[in-house]
Amino acid sequence: MDADRVSADLGRILLFEADIQRRVAELAGQIERDYEGSDLLLVGVLKGAVMFMADLSRALQRHVETDWMAISSYGSGTKSSGVVRILKDLDTDITGRNVLVIEDIIDTGLTLSWLAANLRSRGPASVEICALLRKPEAAKTNVHIRYVGFDIPSEFVVGYGLDYAERYRNLRDIVTLAAHLYT
Ligand code: 5GP
Repeated sequence: MDADRVSADLGRILLFEADIQRRVAELAGQIERDYEGSDLLLVGVLKGAVMFMADLSRALQRHVETDWMAISSYGSGTKSSGVVRILKDLDTDITGRNVLVIEDIIDTGLTLSWLAANLRSRGPASVEICALLRKPEAAKTNVHIRYVGFDIPSEFVVGYGLDYAERYRNLRDIVTLAAHLYT
């Protein structure tokens, strides 16, 4: 879906589809170099990372396995609750595996620091994080993000997998939400 179809709900386009695709290709190149000769399991975080995972995995010119986790953090609002629950666990045993977590966006970092600790407790060879978007607040957490697509301002964004109350995930661009929807 194109942003101009639902423009009344949206603020401005922060990242165009072409910018996203260019950055995804760069990240894929970096990941290929870093994991050369090693096994690699991509763990996508549902549902926000679906588009990013689909594009990043296809940009990788090497074998990868993919798996998914669903965790709850925000509910349907726009503020992090800090409470994390596993809604769907991995199908894969990650003992001895190189795990790369594919996440849509890091705001407070609460969700990911919890998830990284949970995965590390399962005996993998490594756990790294690849996030498409990072907000300024994330700098305050001590969770190490190995790959970041874009640093963005502290605004609520939708599109390219990211939702507001389950809508807008199918926008091609990443767009700010109109203030009247969340203030
Ligand atoms: P954190 O725990 O880092 O504060 O929040 C991370 C999660 O909150 C993300 O995985 C995402 O689901 C949600 N989130 C944080 N910021 C945004 C945003 O700007 N837009 C959307 N749609 N979700 C966000």
